[in-house]
Amino acid sequence: MNDSPQQSPESSSPRSRGKTEPTADLKHHQLRCSICRSQSLGQIEEAFISWESVDVIAGTYAIPRCSVYRHAHATGLFARRDRNIRRALGLLIHRADKVRDVSADSIIRAAQTLARINERGEWTTPPTRVIVTREAPRPADEAPASQSRQGAGSTTA
Ligand SMILES: [Zn+2]
Repeated sequence: MNDSPQQSPESSSPRSRGKTEPTADLKHHQLRCSICRSQSLGQIEEAFISWESVDVIAGTYAIPRCSVYRHAHATGLFARRDRNIRRALGLLIHRADKVRDVSADSIIRAAQTLARINERGEWTTPPTRVIVTREAPRPADEAPASQSRQGAGSTTA
């Protein structure tokens, strides 16, 4: 993960959800979940939020894929991962040369989408207001033009 194009906005506190008392459902989950009891809880959650492949997470930590998904559903990791959509787009752009079946158009659209999503995962619309300015003619510019017209008129008369 050292070659990642950007840091996750959630990376500073993967356990930030722990501020409030867990609900009964979450307590029940925590009692039965091997990930919740794992010393790698923070790394697993960080990998999930950072859009790492669930297959890779499961393989790295020797846990079943279904446990990763069950833990993610129980602890609200999907919503946190969705807010981190910039990370997924960044990974797509970063790995464009290594992934087959990705067209240049897909990469360009990913880059355009990335540019419109802020760090909170919110869609932002670029300003569409156009400012038109006109440069007023300077008095010095007008004087020679009017003189030349007069001069042209005097030679023909
Ligand atoms: Zn769990």
